[in-house]
Order: sequence, then C-alpha cells, then structure tokens
Amino acid sequence: MIERSRAGWHHIDIMDGVFVPNISFGMPVLKAIARHANKPLDVHLMIVDPDRYIQAFADLNAANLTVHIEACNHLHRTVGAIREAGMKAGVALNPHTPVNSLESIIEDIDLVCLMGVNPGFGGQSFIKNTLKKTAELRALIDARGAQVDIEIDGGVDASNASALVAAGANVLVAGSAVFKADNPEAMIAELTTLGVEA
Ligand code: ZN
Repeated sequence: MIERSRAGWHHIDIMDGVFVPNISFGMPVLKAIARHANKPLDVHLMIVDPDRYIQAFADLNAANLTVHIEACNHLHRTVGAIREAGMKAGVALNPHTPVNSLESIIEDIDLVCLMGVNPGFGGQSFIKNTLKKTAELRALIDARGAQVDIEIDGGVDASNASALVAAGANVLVAGSAVFKADNPEAMIAELTTLGVEA
C-alpha cells in the first residue's frame, strides 16, 4: 500500500528497549522490508550507541540513517561515519532537547528529525512546542544557508500537518494517522497535498 501510495519514503523506527522503553524490530525484519521497498528507506534509530550498526544499515540499503543526539557522545564522528558509509545523516531531537544544540553540527548533516512526542510508542498526542521548534530550526538552517530536511515524527496528522509545513517542515512522518485511518492510502494522499513527503 505504501509503495503504490503518494508517500515519498518508508520511515522505519528501530527501538532497543534501552534508549526507549519499547522494542520494535531489527535486521531480519528490515531486510524483509527492503526486499519489497522501491522507495527510500528512512531509518530512525532509537537505540543507544548507534555507531555499532552503521555499516549493517548501509548494507541493508538504508537511504537515510538518523541517530538521536541524546544517544551519541561523539555526534560529529557518528554523522561522518554515516555519510562515509554512503547514507544521508540525520539527527533526531527528543521534545526536551533544544534546537540550539544543533548549532555546531547543522552544516554537517542532511536531516533533522524533531520528535513531536516522547519516542517509544505509537499513538501519542502531539506536543505543541514542536511547532515553535520547527520554526527555530528553519531559521537556523536558513541563516547558515544549509541544505537540511526538517522531518517531524510523532503525533503528526491532518490537523497539524499544514501548520508544521508553514513553520518550515518538509518531511512529515505519519504512523497512527495513516494506519488507523479508514482509508490509509487516501490519508497519505491528503497529507501529501501539502507538498511534502509523508
Ligand atoms: Zn521515527
């Protein structure tokens, strides 16, 4: 369904039960997804010490690999290793982490993922401060003349999507909004009419 829909990417949440309370899935499942996916794999690692697995995700053909700033002691080295492995490097921020923590890394990355909920479970409601953070991030990126995607992940639905795009987001991740909709494919189409990739 995602392949035939207007969605731009497959967003894959990898959870380790340590960085976040939940455990999602690992390499065998991702490998199975990769076999059926023609659209890019946008992999979001909600795991501690993600450096251990950079090459494994490159081998699985991930297009983007996003790590959490809260999980990386040496973020600059980590994003360099992701790019060296041939992937786009993303950095995710939990709701409590300020946008200005990216000031020294923004020119070295390809994507910022702003969490609209505390990561770990689907179906949570959107934290409104994410809108303000989106605008702050857009201002930071534009001030540096950087080319960085702004992705919003968690609590995104048809009620907040246009405000997020207006604030500067260009990638929206939608889980529950799509998969709990009566017609998931139509919901994806609705979200993408905003001119973004869902
Ligand atoms: Zn995610």
